[in-house]
Amino acid sequence: MTHVFPLLAVRGLHKAYRQHQLTVPVLHGVDLDVYNGDFLCILGASGSGKSTLLHLMGTLDQPDQGSVLLDGERIDNAPGPRRDKLRNATFGFIFQFYHLLPELTALENVLVPPMIEASILGWFWQGSAYRKRATELLERVGLGHRLHHKPRELSGGEMQRVAIARALMGQPRVLFADEPTGNLDEEKGEEIVGLLRDLNRRDALTMIMVTHNRDLVAPTDRVVRLVKGRVEGASTPPAEQPTVLEMPRRMAL
Ligand code: ADP
Ligand code: MG
Repeated sequence: MTHVFPLLAVRGLHKAYRQHQLTVPVLHGVDLDVYNGDFLCILGASGSGKSTLLHLMGTLDQPDQGSVLLDGERIDNAPGPRRDKLRNATFGFIFQFYHLLPELTALENVLVPPMIEASILGWFWQGSAYRKRATELLERVGLGHRLHHKPRELSGGEMQRVAIARALMGQPRVLFADEPTGNLDEEKGEEIVGLLRDLNRRDALTMIMVTHNRDLVAPTDRVVRLVKGRVEGASTPPAEQPTVLEMPRRMAL
């Protein structure tokens, strides 16, 4: 039996939200492994805790109990600056509602993450390299002809493509997608999932996609079902994950 070390390991996660005197328990001890090169679908009904789990895995929020490990290193309780760095350089995120800045063009939206990170001097030296990379990423997601369009001049599918390009700017190892097609019609939704699959296969980007729509799942995906804050079962045991060790860790672009 081949032993494959998980890229991300979730151990015994518990999470409840507190509002005034009310406690809303959401996750009740979730265990989950994500392997390098996985296309993992987290399926579950609305309210089952999918977004909560994704936020905890991506260090956007912290669990009440349990841990999240990246390459065996605990990240859920890492100091703030370490978690900021993870979100900028190791993880990428896309959401149902794109979260683009309306006054900026597609290209400028993709340039936002490095702009926030770089110093003025850094931007002076690196700005044109960032612009080149942002342009290449927009071409990669099929938007080379929409660089200077603002979000209101783009369709939903195109806005999600901009969001994907923006998420790729930091060369992430893992892309978290929370209901990425939730606001799109079926055809456009399938195109976006097709793009995510292509990034997973061709650029060896590990993908964690959360959805309530089982039609989006492909036979090759690893599937984890979340029911009322508990994992029901995984479709493929880790030992059967085949070529993940041979895959390059970084994207080609
Ligand atoms: P899903 O993404 O599967 O629809 P969520 O993780 O968003 O589920 O939410 C799970 C449950 O937690 C829901 O009942 C939701 O209302 C509740 N919830 C989510 N976020 C908060 C919050 N910030 N404060 C209080 N309750 C929340
Ligand atoms: Mg959700």
